[in-house]
Amino acid sequence: MADITYDVAIIGSGPGGYVAAIRAAQLGMKAAVIERGDLGGVCLNVGCIPSKAFLHTAGLLEEAREGKRIGVVVDNVRLDWPAVMSYKGRVVKTMNTGVGSLFKKNKVDVFKGMGRLLTATSIGVTAEDGTEQTVNTRFVIIATGSAPRSLPFAPFDEQRIVSSTGMLATTEVPKRLVIIGGGVIGVEMGTAFHGFGSEVTILEALPRIIGIADEEISAELFKAMTRKGIKIMTNAKVSAVAAHDAGIDVTYADASGAAQTVTGDKVLVAVARGPLTKQIGLETVGVATNERGYVTVNEFLQTNVANVYAIGDCVPSGGLAHTASAQGILAVEHMAGQHVVPINYEHVPSPMWCAPEVAFVGLTEAQARERGYRVKVGKFPFAATGKATILGERTGFVKIVAEEQYGEVLGIHIIGPSATELIGEAGMALSHEATIESLVHTIHAHPTLYEAIGEAGHALIDGPINA
Ligand code: NAD
Repeated sequence: MADITYDVAIIGSGPGGYVAAIRAAQLGMKAAVIERGDLGGVCLNVGCIPSKAFLHTAGLLEEAREGKRIGVVVDNVRLDWPAVMSYKGRVVKTMNTGVGSLFKKNKVDVFKGMGRLLTATSIGVTAEDGTEQTVNTRFVIIATGSAPRSLPFAPFDEQRIVSSTGMLATTEVPKRLVIIGGGVIGVEMGTAFHGFGSEVTILEALPRIIGIADEEISAELFKAMTRKGIKIMTNAKVSAVAAHDAGIDVTYADASGAAQTVTGDKVLVAVARGPLTKQIGLETVGVATNERGYVTVNEFLQTNVANVYAIGDCVPSGGLAHTASAQGILAVEHMAGQHVVPINYEHVPSPMWCAPEVAFVGLTEAQARERGYRVKVGKFPFAATGKATILGERTGFVKIVAEEQYGEVLGIHIIGPSATELIGEAGMALSHEATIESLVHTIHAHPTLYEAIGEAGHALIDGPINA
């Protein structure tokens, strides 16, 4: 098998790599994937999929506890942690078995082992038992992904000081969970483990959580999570972590600079992820990386070595699974000589499965103003919709940022029930260059949550009907 010259060989089978392989096969290219771990990469095995399984359980638990509010009385609601872990495991297994089946169906060859570029057209694969193979190929895609970053004073032991990977493998729900970092992973894991019964404290160095979101969205999430009983300290710069028998002390400087300590039974460090671009032969072949170790690519995901492409978390493009998949498709179509349109990264949705959910696409209000737009903003609260009232999930709102002159929609920001699904309409609006007029001319079905998007549009023109 190793002597076959492939059209494309892909290092990494995450949502970037596996999608690229399948698209390549659809285009008639012979594809190989080199993977050292389980098929599906971080997203399927220790990222998006298992974390959302946790969040689903946590949400259902809360609903069961609150069921009596709507006439569903469930006695003795309790969490069965081994069953949670086994459910999460089944979901992951189903998904990565699915990737294996797709590879078979599309005749994609899988090489198990650590891949590294030997030349621009050959990849050495070292299997776990030390055996070596060489994969020869016309094109290469680097899709090696990323790994959690640790703090110098808090290295992961994956038992008590853990990354998101360790958190997903936890054998019991910690009584006290301290999370360093109030970014995406911090708020999602904080939501899940608060739901499971942990006392959760989130320490965020910046003045607000989920700093990439619109300020009003961050503020609303802070309020909602705090109301539930999650402790969130912003302007909290963590400087030391010390484990002892009775717990782990996390020391941080608060907004006034005073030293504070919070103690946890487990500490999750969620202070960003970094690219996995070392020891894969990039230097051997002369593939350029930037000062932070990300592979440098052009708008077609091509590196400075023309037949070597890079996609996903190892390139500096935001680290989202759906971005990686879109890049994988684009890279393969480009190498196949198809006409391709570069990705507009500003139209990539950012979904977060905290409670309430958050999702946004396009420019925040502050970004739009910084770019010099004359900005107008329309907002509509979920509390004013029938559907959110039925669900008993009346927190949150839709916020539309538009420019004044032509009414072009620049950004849509949602916090509230099912925001991660509702963002679909918002993404479509931006990719189709919708104006406020075209958005409000879209009839929104009743009673639905997405009526709030139409009403936020009306708020920009002639006033909403229901608020
Ligand atoms: P992040 O960049 O979203 O958040 C990290 C946070 O940690 C930042 O707010 C930062 O200010 C804070 N921080 C850094 N050092 C600190 C310190 N010493 N003390 C206190 N706070 C500190 O990173 P993340 O949450 O680790 O997630 C990593 C990446 O994983 C994300 O960028 C995202 O691409 C991906 N991810 C996405 C999703 C999703 O789309 N729903 C979910 C999980 C992860």
